[in-house]
Amino acid sequence: PRRPVKKPEWLKAKAPMGETFHNLKKMARELNLHTVCESAQCPNIGECWNQKSATFMMLGNLCTRRCGFCAVPKGKPEPIDFDEPRRVAYAVAQLGLAHAVITSVNRDDDNVGAARAFVSVIEEIRAQAPGCRVEVLTPDFQGNEEALRMVVAAAPEILNHNIETVPRLYRVAKSGGRYERSLGFLEKAKAIAEELFGKTIVTKTGIIVGMGEEMHELLAVFRDLADRKVDILTIGQYLRPSRDHLPMARYYTPEEFAFLKHEALGMGFKHVESGPLVRSSYHAQEQAESTGLA
Ligand code: SF4
Ligand code: SF4
Repeated sequence: PRRPVKKPEWLKAKAPMGETFHNLKKMARELNLHTVCESAQCPNIGECWNQKSATFMMLGNLCTRRCGFCAVPKGKPEPIDFDEPRRVAYAVAQLGLAHAVITSVNRDDDNVGAARAFVSVIEEIRAQAPGCRVEVLTPDFQGNEEALRMVVAAAPEILNHNIETVPRLYRVAKSGGRYERSLGFLEKAKAIAEELFGKTIVTKTGIIVGMGEEMHELLAVFRDLADRKVDILTIGQYLRPSRDHLPMARYYTPEEFAFLKHEALGMGFKHVESGPLVRSSYHAQEQAESTGLA
C-alpha cells in the first residue's frame, strides 16, 4: 500500500476557536443554516469566522451532483425552502458582515427555483443589511439562461462561478459539469449585465489544483477565462476530504502558487488569490476591494 504523503507545514491552519466562531456556529444551528465553511471542512474556518467572514450555503445540505473532490453530502434534496434567504440575510445582519458570500448546492431538479432563491437572498440582504456587499457563488443552472438572467438582474456585487478544474479532469472531478458551459456562463453574465444596465458585472471563478492536471493545462484554462474577461481568480490546493474522494495527485509548493498568480495577472485578471489554503471565499472582501470595481 502507498504510504500517506505527509502534510506540508504550509498547509497547517490554526485550530478553530474564539468568540465569533462560537457565536456563528450557534446562530447557524438556531436558524437552521448551513455554511460551506463547515460542510466542506474548510481549513480556514478559524481565521475566517473570527474575522466575521463566512460563506452560507443555501438550498439544503444535499447536492444533486457528485463532484469527486467535494465533501458536501450527495443525495436527493428536500424541496427548496424559500424562507431560507430571509434567515441567511438575518444572520448576515446580526453578524454585521461587510461582505457576504452566498452559495448553494446544485439543484439540477429545479434550476429556476434555485435562481429565485439567489435573487431573494440578494434582495433580503439589501433590505436587512444595507451596505453589505453581496457575492453569490452559483451553480451553472445547467446552462439555463433564464436562471442566469434572473441572478444578473438582481445585481450582486460579484457573480462567482467556479470552473474548478481543467477540461480533461471534468469526467472524474466534476462529472455533472461541462467546461464549455461554465465558460459560457461567465461570458454570458457580462453580456446580460451590459444589456440590462449598460455596464459590466464583476465575475469571479476558482480552480483547485493537485487533482492531476498539468501546468500547461492550467495556463490554458487561465487564458480561456481571461478571454471571457473574468475579473477575479482564486487558486487553491486540493485536499482530499476522505478516502472515498478523488485521490490527491500532488501538493503544489508556495513558489508554484506564486508562479500561477504571476502568470494569471499577466493575462489580465484584476485580482488573483493563489495559495495552498486559498478557497473561493478566502479573503473575499480584500479580493473585491482590490478590483476597485465592487
Ligand atoms: Fe468559509 Fe470560505 Fe473562509 Fe473557508 S475560506 S472558512 S469556506 S469563508
Ligand atoms: Fe460539491 Fe459539486 Fe455539489 Fe458543488 S456541485 S456542492 S462542488 S458536489
